[in-house]
Amino acid sequence: MANSCLFCRIARHEIPSTVVAEDERLMAFRDVHPQAPTHILIIPKAHVDSLNDVGEFDLVGRMTRMAVAIAEQEGIARRGYRTVINTNADGGQTVFHLHLHLLGGRSLGWPPG
Ligand code: AMP
Repeated sequence: MANSCLFCRIARHEIPSTVVAEDERLMAFRDVHPQAPTHILIIPKAHVDSLNDVGEFDLVGRMTRMAVAIAEQEGIARRGYRTVINTNADGGQTVFHLHLHLLGGRSLGWPPG
């Protein structure tokens, strides 16, 4: 799975992406079909299928902390932004490698569809 997984391949730089941040455990890159002026995905480099499969306490915290730093960097922190993790079919997950969406740069509707 991890060998052919799209986001694992992006994490290994085998598939090009627009990287905005990277550390030893995480990578952040621009969504190829942006739904807002800023739309960035934050992923763990090590494969995890979905939020249901996160077995440790600090991974999602690290991902969120990176999202906040990127929001600051993108200039959207003050006006606001949204962080979203879609999980499985009803949650709208289409890529089964855990990712946190960071969306901002426009006013976002609520509730989501
Ligand atoms: P989700 O529906 O939550 O699983 O989100 C998957 C996201 O991955 C979508 O917003 C896609 O536009 C995005 N995506 C798919 N392929 C790529 C890619 N090669 N590079 C960047 N983003 C991608």
